[in-house]
Amino acid sequence: MNELLSQLVSLQVIDLEIDRIDNAIKDEQNELDDRISALAKREALINELQESITTQEKESRTLEAEMTDKMDHVRERQSKMMQVQTGREQTALLKEIEDAKKNAKENEEKIVALMESIEKLTEQIETEKNMLKGEKKLVTEETEKVRSAIAKINRGKKEKDKLRKKQAKDIKGSVLKKYDTLRQRRNGVAVVNVVDGVCQGCFMALPPQRYNMLLKGDQILDCPTCQRMNYYVPPVEEEK
Ligand SMILES: [Zn+2]
Repeated sequence: MNELLSQLVSLQVIDLEIDRIDNAIKDEQNELDDRISALAKREALINELQESITTQEKESRTLEAEMTDKMDHVRERQSKMMQVQTGREQTALLKEIEDAKKNAKENEEKIVALMESIEKLTEQIETEKNMLKGEKKLVTEETEKVRSAIAKINRGKKEKDKLRKKQAKDIKGSVLKKYDTLRQRRNGVAVVNVVDGVCQGCFMALPPQRYNMLLKGDQILDCPTCQRMNYYVPPVEEEK
């Protein structure tokens, strides 16, 4: 294998390890983020429930004030009954009193329903708050665990970063740039072997002529499909 090729292949081994390390860190962080956003959702739910209670309490107070007014009205009308002369006036007044009583009764029923609803919401809030408390405790513990897991992973990464620097320093700048760009665009893999005429990066067959050139060995050719740097290293058992 020519020197540049072996340098690039070794560099890629290190880079893929670094990628794995970065992904491991991301996975740890994502899991924690999911838990934290679940907490935020529950907190928002509790706030919503609390707002419903506030609205319903306000509604209940309005209904109560209305009911008081209506009952005052009933009493006022009842006292007027004494002064009424004709039967027609009496009938009208009686009807007015009945209507006001009916309205007051309707308000009372609404208030009872609201009270029941508020009671249920209060119970729900209590349950949600207890769950939130448990989850918060868990997240605190989890944060600590994730932090130390990431610190541990990062220690391993430092070593790899050093190794990477060392491995990359002898590679020509333009080649390194091409390699880095390919890795970015091609899922982290820039240099790939060709097996049975097939590029192991995109799994497309190479044109026979190009494959033959690679078989002669020791050169790097760009894959016509994925542009990765192709090389050919024969399988171990055939080397004997
Ligand atoms: Zn390819």
